[in-house]
Amino acid sequence: MKHELPDLPYAYDALEPYYEERTLRLHHDAHHKAYVDGLNKAEAKLVEARENNDFSLVKHWERELAFHGSGHILHSIFWTNMKPEGGGPAEGAVAQQIKADFRGFPAFKEQFTAAAAAVEGSGWTLLCWNPQFDKLEILTSEKHQNLTQWGAIPLLVLDLWEHAYYLQYQNKKAAFIEAWWNLVNWEDVNARLDEAKK
Ligand code: MN
Repeated sequence: MKHELPDLPYAYDALEPYYEERTLRLHHDAHHKAYVDGLNKAEAKLVEARENNDFSLVKHWERELAFHGSGHILHSIFWTNMKPEGGGPAEGAVAQQIKADFRGFPAFKEQFTAAAAAVEGSGWTLLCWNPQFDKLEILTSEKHQNLTQWGAIPLLVLDLWEHAYYLQYQNKKAAFIEAWWNLVNWEDVNARLDEAKK
């Protein structure tokens, strides 16, 4: 089964003015698509390697599997984490959990924003549920897959690769992060927390 690029759950211009159509279109249609293609290719090459019993390039394809697979997973979450007319403080169960684990929404937002601003080069900021620790955590990743914690389930993710914002925000990364808070889809984050806790 090949992986496929998921459709966006809204129109390309639906997130304006915070996230412009031009940036969203390129990000989804070109960048996310490349991760889906890269994942399919890595899987196909590993099938080939097993069939030929030739694992001379296994290190390369395992890395490709991790990189493109993580890229595909995180982008798929990123799109549904946003919606037109989103934002505001957390709602529902996730708001309660944020209160328990971060002392409240303002402190959570401060930490998430600071962590996002501190991501160097290409990476993400992620609010995760870790079932082993029974709590929410903010993590960051280099690229898509480095610095992550085993078992942590991403609920809310912010893409900080330059391709995510540079066309619209140029070097004003902090302005992008601030704008993104207006798009957060807390219903989606709650649905993911609910699923992660099962
Ligand atoms: Mn991206």
